Amino acid sequence: MKLIEFGLVEILSLVRKGEVRVVEIVEDYIARIEQEDQKIKAYLTYAFDKALARAREIDSKKEKGKLAGAIIAIKDNIVTKGIRTTCASRILENFIPPYNATVIDRLEAEDAIIIGKTNLDEFAMGSSTENSAFFPTRNPWDTERVPGGSSGGSAAAVAALEAVAALGSDTGGSVRQPAAFCGVVGLKPTYGRVSRYGLIAYASSLDQIGPLARSVEDCALVTSVIAGFDRKDSTSSPLPVPDYLAELKTSLPKIRVGALEESSLNGVSQEVASNYRAILRLLEELGIEIQRMTFPSWEYALPCYYVIAPSEASSNLARYDGVRYGFRAESRELSEMYLKTRTQGFGSEVKRRILLGTFALSSGYYEAYYARAAKARQVITREFAAAFDRVDFILTPTTPEPAFKLGEKQDPISMYLQDYFTVAANLAGIPGISIPSGFTADGLPLGVQLLGRAFSESELFRLAFLLEKNINLKNNKSEI
Ligand code: GLN
Repeated sequence: MKLIEFGLVEILSLVRKGEVRVVEIVEDYIARIEQEDQKIKAYLTYAFDKALARAREIDSKKEKGKLAGAIIAIKDNIVTKGIRTTCASRILENFIPPYNATVIDRLEAEDAIIIGKTNLDEFAMGSSTENSAFFPTRNPWDTERVPGGSSGGSAAAVAALEAVAALGSDTGGSVRQPAAFCGVVGLKPTYGRVSRYGLIAYASSLDQIGPLARSVEDCALVTSVIAGFDRKDSTSSPLPVPDYLAELKTSLPKIRVGALEESSLNGVSQEVASNYRAILRLLEELGIEIQRMTFPSWEYALPCYYVIAPSEASSNLARYDGVRYGFRAESRELSEMYLKTRTQGFGSEVKRRILLGTFALSSGYYEAYYARAAKARQVITREFAAAFDRVDFILTPTTPEPAFKLGEKQDPISMYLQDYFTVAANLAGIPGISIPSGFTADGLPLGVQLLGRAFSESELFRLAFLLEKNINLKNNKSEI
């Protein structure tokens, strides 16, 4: 077995026992990336030299951190000191951050190695990585198809064995949807569970950093390292961080799972719907009580998100004006400089969202759009709270359909509809995990999503782990 084939928990134990050196693992991943990434294009920037130097240092240490041997890919909207961070945008094309995001410091403190920065939809706006200003990433299961987005590069890197795990960010589904499209596990933690310091802001009240990995165990381990209070992020929670990996082995109490009514599956692809029903049956066979539930406000989550997220984005992206950092267009005077910098620096989806957001926040329209969306958000949050009085988790499909073809979704609305099942969790601030749940007849991965109460990550992992052990993934993948 090649070193790249071991999952995170397994490779770490080989390093701990002294059976492999970290340098060997890094070398194997570099070889893999050099062989595969021409085709997949998961990465925007490689950090091979730094990774090798770090590996040598770690190999010479007597006391190694918990993640010694972990070769991790990082979404390129998370800042890395001395490593270019572009957000897949021309406006930050040559930006080299002078500091690390808190999650990077935490990973490195445990001796994880950053192997490179992964592709995304520009500023994390999209569901396919086609909005990257540089190039789209391809789905390792079928390179004619998208890997999802916006953390498409991270999901593809993990699926193609170009990293053992990755970090992504999830504002409306950007960890969970690509995880489902690429057949990996992805968690959107509770809002405040993981520090956002150093995550380039898209919509600050919704953004969370989350891990993508090959198994629930691996995801749990990465989460326990990156989570926790950070005085540099005032929205981070002071609640203690459990040892999620150790707690996976403890048994779940008697639980109830909420399921969507059949009518909520209208418009969902047949294969997604039948896979969802199969997972519900499996839960019942495992002795878990299922309750059908209606969520009257679910259909408002998407329009609500597409007012709130662009509104926050329009404010967050005002800082890219060519004055302090990033790209600056040639010009004779200041207002022309702003205009040209932003015109040339931002891609069309980003511009669309800035326009939508400034419109929704503008005087005369604010009440009709932003204030209304904020109210709808409260209704959605209350509906979840009421649901969690009756059940402990909610199961949904992660996406309405499996990975689609590059170029297939031309109009923005059809792209936005990809987020139908995922945005509600961000609006309510609750955690959600997507796990692989089967394959289509054509061999494309499918995923289901489990949602839980705020800060219930430990229980969420345990239920996901139980499902993972019992889902029979007929692997008809030929070779990646
Ligand atoms: N697809 C959603 C959007 O385009 C979600 C993106 C995200 O979670 N970053 O906004």
